[in-house]
Formats: sequence, C-alpha cells, structure tokens
Amino acid sequence: MRCPYCRHADSRVVDSREVDEGQVIRRRRSCQACGRRFTTVEEATLAVIKRSGVTEPFSRGKVITGVRRACQGRPVDEDQLALLAQRVEDAVRATGCAEIPSHEVGLAILGPLRELDEVAYLRFASVYRSFTSLEDFEAEIEALRRTESPPAPPAPAAPAQRHPSGRSVLALEPAP
Ligand SMILES: [Zn+2]
Repeated sequence: MRCPYCRHADSRVVDSREVDEGQVIRRRRSCQACGRRFTTVEEATLAVIKRSGVTEPFSRGKVITGVRRACQGRPVDEDQLALLAQRVEDAVRATGCAEIPSHEVGLAILGPLRELDEVAYLRFASVYRSFTSLEDFEAEIEALRRTESPPAPPAPAAPAQRHPSGRSVLALEPAP
C-alpha cells in the first residue's frame, strides 16, 4: 500500500482490527520511508448491477434513503431503518454473489419492510413493482391479508402441556 504522504510503495501493518462484525478490516500502517502512519480499510466488494448495466457498490445508505421515502409520516424511526438496511445487506451477502442485480436488492427490502410497516410496504411495493391500477393495490393488500403474520423470528416452542395423567395434550384443547 502506497504511503499517502510520500508515495513510498512499502508500508508495514502495525495493527488490524475487524469492524462491523468482520465485514470490514481496518489496518493501521506505518510507512517504511517517512514513518508516518495511515489507515486502510478493506471490505469485500458487494456490487449492485443497475438496470442500465452499470455497477455500483452496495450501500446501506441508499437502501435507507429509498425506504425512508416510503415511510414518510409512518411511525418508523431511524434505528428501525438502520436495522432494516442491515438485514437487507445480510440477506444480499447471504446469496453468496459478489454482484447482484438491483431488483434483487428491492426484493430483499420487501420482506423486512412488510414486517416493519404495512403501509410503507405497500408504498414501496407500488413503486418497485410499478403498480398501475387499483387492482394492483387490491391484489397486494389481498396478499397481505392472506399472510397476516409474515414469517416472524422463531418463537420459543410452547412447552407441551402435560395432562395430570401424564399424557401430552394439545395446548389448545378445551378444558374438560
Ligand atoms: Zn511515507
């Protein structure tokens, strides 16, 4: 890594630490020639391929900007937006592809956004899926109703109730 002060080509790593749960590595380097120190940041590339074919680095900030617009006037705070963007990034990284089409980023947003706020989800989906008619909204709302509770994080399994006799009984079984 070239020294940003004197342009010397050799530097020595004096410290390196992982940030962002290991997705970023920061290295503190010391120039072999002038002795000055500088920092480099290493991050696995995650590129988004836009419809135009142009690629750009994945950005949580862009996810947040897009979602924030859909959340206007809704009870969604910045922390929730940041968490959503983190979930989107995790989902995108989990695909194992270094380059992903932008529409897949949109897809990855839909799930967490629906859990966050259904109105914001509808707004976002209407733009993202180019709704052109009331019927499109109706169909989406219908789909929302059908899956009222989207896949939530697994709840701890309710312990099976034991009947005094020792037999397992269903928790929902009406009491005799
Ligand atoms: Zn130097």
